[in-house]
Amino acid sequence: METEFIIRTLFKAYEKGNYVVGPSHLSKELDIPKSTAQKILIQLSELGYGFYVERKGFIFSEKGLREGKRILRRHRLLECLLEDLGMDKSEICEEASKIDLAFGSGLERLIEEKYGKKERCPCGKPIPSL
Ligand SMILES: [Zn+2]
Repeated sequence: METEFIIRTLFKAYEKGNYVVGPSHLSKELDIPKSTAQKILIQLSELGYGFYVERKGFIFSEKGLREGKRILRRHRLLECLLEDLGMDKSEICEEASKIDLAFGSGLERLIEEKYGKKERCPCGKPIPSL
């Protein structure tokens, strides 16, 4: 599973105040076995995105937090674009989730120019600043 995808999931939990995310949370969110979720969290910590504490869970490092903010910023700025295009609010987040990890730096620059000053996405969540 793609690293950015996992980090996006973990950072959403972090935003809600879950600073230590255990394998059960990830397993539920992604519908994968708990043992797989644990392996993924250990791998992420080996990549320097955080620390895995046995029997507790995953805690973001500075590097992990930076990556999480970057990913969620892209996601929420993209949501602003989708709203502008007239997409229904109820569909925006799901649609953005399908493409937010895939689009390239050209589009990223354009949406930064256009929506970069916004503080909240269409559903009212804060757009992280870098
Ligand atoms: Zn969203």
